[in-house]
Amino acid sequence: MTNQHIHCIVNDCHYWNQGNMCHANEILVTTDEFGSRQPDHIDAATAKQLTPDAAGSCMATCCKTYVPKGSDQIKADTVKRMP
Ligand code: SF4
Repeated sequence: MTNQHIHCIVNDCHYWNQGNMCHANEILVTTDEFGSRQPDHIDAATAKQLTPDAAGSCMATCCKTYVPKGSDQIKADTVKRMP
């Protein structure tokens, strides 16, 4: 696997870190439509089972891995926060 650098400015996310870096060990990006229909446990670990979809614009994509800091949904999937 390559050494990824995911930059993100969504600072109320559990995985956000100083310098606008994402510290999730993996993330799932989906279309807004798909993401809005799926429960929290559908995330990076299930990515290989999901059907690819077209978004049409960047405004129609979302980070499905986002979870608010302090949320009880942090453990809804297997994504880990890296040090
Ligand atoms: S999980 Fe998504 S929203 Fe959260 S910091 Fe990473 S890229 Fe940003």
